Amino acid sequence: MQKDANIDWKNLGFGYTKTDFRYISIWKDGKWDDGKLSEDNMLTMSESSTALHYGQQCFEGLKAYRRKDGTIQLFRPDENAKRFNRSASRLLMPEVPVEKFIDACKQVVKANEHFVPPYGTGATLYLRPFLIGVGHNLGVKPAPEYIFCVFCSPVGAYFKGGMTPVNFMITEEYDRAAPHGTGDVKVGGNYAASLLAHEDAVKKGFADCIYLDAKTQTKIEEVGAANFFGITQNNEFITPNSPSILPSITRYSLMHVAKEYLGLEVKERDVYVDKLDEFKEAGACGTAAVITPIGGIEYKGKLHVFHSETEVGPVTKKLYDTLYGIQFGDVDAPEGWIYEVK
Ligand SMILES: *Cc1c(COP(=O)(O)O)cnc(C)c1O
Repeated sequence: MQKDANIDWKNLGFGYTKTDFRYISIWKDGKWDDGKLSEDNMLTMSESSTALHYGQQCFEGLKAYRRKDGTIQLFRPDENAKRFNRSASRLLMPEVPVEKFIDACKQVVKANEHFVPPYGTGATLYLRPFLIGVGHNLGVKPAPEYIFCVFCSPVGAYFKGGMTPVNFMITEEYDRAAPHGTGDVKVGGNYAASLLAHEDAVKKGFADCIYLDAKTQTKIEEVGAANFFGITQNNEFITPNSPSILPSITRYSLMHVAKEYLGLEVKERDVYVDKLDEFKEAGACGTAAVITPIGGIEYKGKLHVFHSETEVGPVTKKLYDTLYGIQFGDVDAPEGWIYEVK
């Protein structure tokens, strides 16, 4: 390490810490510039930017992991790049070439190397690539210019005292995404719309709410801002299949781990909220926690408990340990999943 970032890695939460460098590239007159690292963590833009008024923006979240041997790796950044471009295209923003996206991530990690937490702390360097419409504009239309930025912040281990299940409630009051809306892309508008539903669930004593499909209100879609999976009584890994779910890279990685490492049957299909007893275990998955075990789900005033409200189920634990091991370089990864930052 070049210098000591002087951070208490063990007590780090999920919050913003200013690091030394971020990557910035500008799209103007139909093309991207070469991009550069900047020490300035403030952005300047037109007061009339589409990102500020019409939500023309998208983002990604991925992590850099310190391995036991001190080297640093990224986990499937190519998948983040591809998803980023699907989000960009959906909002009529220019795509960022996959190579440029990955190179930007690597540059930011390299330049902030001393902020990558030590192996064994569970802490990581979280990367936040984002794309915003900027430039002078008033009417509802795509922006004339765009900023692509990748910044990073060290974040603590998600589970400080070991993995513990949490309870969620089904919300029938709020929808997250409409069938042909923007639920399948990672755009800020989806998050803005979820703030109130989240606050409502927390006030009622739950970790977050679970959204049903907007059309029929019968099928599970997302668990807050994470994907759902369940393990059936006969050991199948089930995850919902819907065009309005954000395709989680953690979820697709877990599907692979379930099949290839644990030998489970894997299916993407409808998950009916009134048939939860088909599952012996359930969890929420995403980059932040890998897996949050679901203790119970409240629906129409009744709490349905899966494995336990206090203990993690054995299949969930194995899935978690395997993927976590892959991400930190302790378990052999499938080909192409790991990008070393040199
Ligand atoms: C980012 C996100 C996820 C998780 O995706 P990962 O690629 O696994 O981090 C799940 N649901 C929503 C709504 C998201 O925005």
